[in-house]
Amino acid sequence: MKKLRFLFAMLAAKCVSLGLKVLGRNATYLPGLIAVKLAPDFIGHLKKPATLICVTGTNGKTTTSNFITSVLRSTGKRVTNNSFGSNVQAGVAAALLLNSTLTGKPKNDVAVIEVDERSSLKVYPYITPDYIVCNNIMRDSLKRNAHTEFISYILNRAFPAKTTLILNADDVICAHLAPQCEKRVYFGMDAERPEKTEGMKARDIVYCPACGGRLEAEYIRYNHIGSVKCPACGWGNPARDFTVTAIDRENGTFTVNGEDYKLVNDNVVNVYNFCGAIALLTTLGVTHEEIVKAFENAELVKTRYTAEALAGGRRLTMILSKGQNPVAVSRVFSYVSKCEGDDKCVLVMVDDKADNTNNVENTCWLYDLDYAPLADPSVGQVIFAGKRCCEHQLRCDMAGVPEEKTVFLPVVSGSVGAIDLDRFKDIFLLYDNYLLDDARKEEKALKARCEA
Ligand SMILES: [Zn+2]
Repeated sequence: MKKLRFLFAMLAAKCVSLGLKVLGRNATYLPGLIAVKLAPDFIGHLKKPATLICVTGTNGKTTTSNFITSVLRSTGKRVTNNSFGSNVQAGVAAALLLNSTLTGKPKNDVAVIEVDERSSLKVYPYITPDYIVCNNIMRDSLKRNAHTEFISYILNRAFPAKTTLILNADDVICAHLAPQCEKRVYFGMDAERPEKTEGMKARDIVYCPACGGRLEAEYIRYNHIGSVKCPACGWGNPARDFTVTAIDRENGTFTVNGEDYKLVNDNVVNVYNFCGAIALLTTLGVTHEEIVKAFENAELVKTRYTAEALAGGRRLTMILSKGQNPVAVSRVFSYVSKCEGDDKCVLVMVDDKADNTNNVENTCWLYDLDYAPLADPSVGQVIFAGKRCCEHQLRCDMAGVPEEKTVFLPVVSGSVGAIDLDRFKDIFLLYDNYLLDDARKEEKALKARCEA
C-alpha cells in the first residue's frame, strides 16, 4: 500500500514538474511539496545515489554546497543539487525526485543537498547521508530558530549514527553535535588569530555544557567561533584534521594542510566555508590538483557577492545580508569596515519586507546585530533605507556611529540618490534576500548616476 502511495505521489509530482517546465516556471519546490503531502515518507522510497552529501548549519550552506557541487562536476561526476531551489523538506524532495526515474532510481551518481536545520527531523529519518557538512551553529532568526540550544537539540536527534560528520572545530557548539556519530572530521583555522577577545557581544555559549563551569577563551574570532576551553573539565575545541594555516590576501591564496588554494573571497566566513568543502572533498578522495583546478574557475554565487568597477573610477560591491540573522549581517558590516579603502559609502537595504507583508514582524534581532564596525573611520557615509530606518537610527546611536555620517530613508526606492558620489569611490550595497529585485533597481540607478 505504501509503495502504491509512493508511486502515485511520484507520478503526480513528475506531472506537476513537467507542467511547470512547459510553463517556464521553477520546479524546485512545488513538485516536492505535492510528493510529501501525498506520501509523507516519500523521500525514504527514493533510491539513494551512490554518494549522498548533505550540507547544513546556520551560515554558509549555499556557498559550501555550490562549491562542493562545482568541484565534483569539474571532476566529471554527475551531481544533483538544490542550491537554486528550496532547502526545506519539500525542496529536498523536489531535488531528489527530479534526479529519479519514475520508479525512484537515481539518475546521477552524487547528490549534494542543502538541508535547513529546522527540516532535519523531516529529512534524516528517511535518508542516511554518507556525509553531513555542518559549518556552524549560530543565532539565527529568533522567531524561526529560537536558540542555538534548540537547533542543536534537533540536529542531535536527527543526524543518523552511520553518517560521517564534517564539522567546524572552531565552533564548539557545532563540534560537539550528535555524539552518536562516531565518524567525525574536523576543520578550522589557525591563520590570523585575533589578539583580543574583547567587544564580542553576541556569544551563544558561555558555560560548559559538561560541568557548568565558565568557559575560558584563548581567542574569539567572532561570536563564539575561536579557541575556548573549560578550565574545570577540559571540554572545548577538538583537534582539527584540516586547518587553514595562512591567508595571503596580497597574492590571493590560502593554505590548508600545507597546500595552497586560490582565495575566491577573502571574508573569513567564506574561508571557513571553503575549508569545510576541502575537508569533505579530500575525505571523498578528490585529489588536491582537482580541487585546485576547480578553485581557479570558482566564483561565489552571483546573487550573494559581486564586485565591479563603475564609471568615474568608482567601485561597487554588492553583498547579500540575510535579514533576521544578526550574525550574518554583523559579519558583513565587519567585512566592509575591514575592506581596503579609507572613504567608503555603505547603503544598507535590510528591511524585513517579507515579514511585514506575510508574517509577524520581530525587530529584536536588530539588538543582536553589531553596528560598531560602521563607526570605523574608513566608512564615510552610511545610508539605511526602508521602513525600519528609525530602528536602525536608534541602534547606530547606541553603537556610537557618528550622526553626521548617517542618513536614514523610509523607502528603498531611489535611496542611491543619497550617496555622495563626489566624495565616495568605494560603494557597498547590502541587501536582504527579499529585496534582491529592489537592490537590482538601485544598482541600475546608481550605474546611471555614475555614467551621468
Ligand atoms: Zn566543564
